[in-house]
Amino acid sequence: MPDKVQRVKGVNDILPEEAAKWQALETVIREVMDRFSFGEIRPPIFEKTDLFARGVGEDTDIVSKEMYTFSDMSKSSLTLRPELTAGVVRSYIQNNLQQVSPVQKLWYEGPMFRQERPQKGRYRQFWQFGAEAIGSPNPEQDVEIIALFHTILQKLGIAGSVSLKINSVGDSESRANYRTALQDYLRPRLADLSETSQHRFESNPLRILDSKAPNDKEIIAGAPRILDCLNESSSQHYSQVLKMLDDMGIAYVQDDLLVRGLDYYTHTIFEFTSDALGAQDAICGGGRYNDLVHELGGKETPAIGWASGIERLLLVIDAMQPLETKSTIDCFLVALGDNLREKAPGIVQTWRNGGLSCDFDTLRRSMKAQMREANRQGAAYAAILGEEEYAHGEVQLKNFETGEQTAVAIEKVVSTIKS
Ligand code: ATP
Ligand code: MG
Repeated sequence: MPDKVQRVKGVNDILPEEAAKWQALETVIREVMDRFSFGEIRPPIFEKTDLFARGVGEDTDIVSKEMYTFSDMSKSSLTLRPELTAGVVRSYIQNNLQQVSPVQKLWYEGPMFRQERPQKGRYRQFWQFGAEAIGSPNPEQDVEIIALFHTILQKLGIAGSVSLKINSVGDSESRANYRTALQDYLRPRLADLSETSQHRFESNPLRILDSKAPNDKEIIAGAPRILDCLNESSSQHYSQVLKMLDDMGIAYVQDDLLVRGLDYYTHTIFEFTSDALGAQDAICGGGRYNDLVHELGGKETPAIGWASGIERLLLVIDAMQPLETKSTIDCFLVALGDNLREKAPGIVQTWRNGGLSCDFDTLRRSMKAQMREANRQGAAYAAILGEEEYAHGEVQLKNFETGEQTAVAIEKVVSTIKS
């Protein structure tokens, strides 16, 4: 026998039973996006590598070690998208979406690709859905985008088991202030920091704050706080965000060490985490990125967004509040005898056109085997078609729940089952 081809490490097959849960989640996502007046955008799965190098940042984990990069026949360097904010912003600029409306509220869903070490909740192909509000600099926009994810959690019934961590890195002036203050604090302690953190001291000192190394953590505990380095307008922006969250009853934890891994953030940054997960506890991350549109060649345009990992969200949902999924059909046609077998596809087609979910046997099995299949599929009814029934234009309709069986005209099956 030829060898079986195995799937690539770190990717998943989503089989029908699992896919039903995805669909239930996607229904909730669509409904909430619609209520918040966000429109769906579907950018391509691969982009020029340069977009991510510039948009996500050369020093980030994503760009420095996680991207799937290849070249095509034209020898351009292309990359499977590791995240979608850069792609959405590229699309916003290229399609002149600022001309459509001064604030563009966009959402997306799709697979992302990162070469990471696979483990529970961390895959090489994984799915995200996300939202971006491009055009408003004001704190009410920050609050709306946070409320959007919070509402999705509420509709899923898991808001109680998820917490919101929030912080601000301020505008570029504040960030620069803080960078200096942090480096001044760390410089005399540099030799005691982990190798990774020493490496980040020049390139990206803020990232040292989320180091997990025990020694680093001790040193970080005494570090200056970002909030103390915010300039007046950054500080005001942030306190307005917190006040509006308070007013709306959205609970949060101020997290001085939250910095997030991407380079493009300004002002408000946030993360939703769940105790139902192990080490990979973040289900959503986001923040304001006021400089990105300009850095990618557009006009100065403030923006804010988040992205959430679907596989991780489903792990939380499974642990807390499993989604209702329907994996049953309305009716299974049990056709008996060779003459009637060839009528089966046509009859089932009329029922399907009438709006029923139904199925029939294509393996020419016995009546008993067909009834077993009807049961396996959780059919509400079996429609038994023998020569005599067919001569009268009828089927015997068996209700599996009550056990009742009655003769029903073939063209009345849809209305009978629907009522
Ligand atoms: P983490 O800290 O877990 O590495 P991240 O900061 O890299 O997360 P983001 O880039 O902010 O994550 O992506 C947003 C969300 O996408 C995460 O909160 C998580 O739910 C999900 N996610 C990120 N990377 C993966 C992955 N490799 N596999 C599955 N889900 C992922
Ligand atoms: Mg990561």
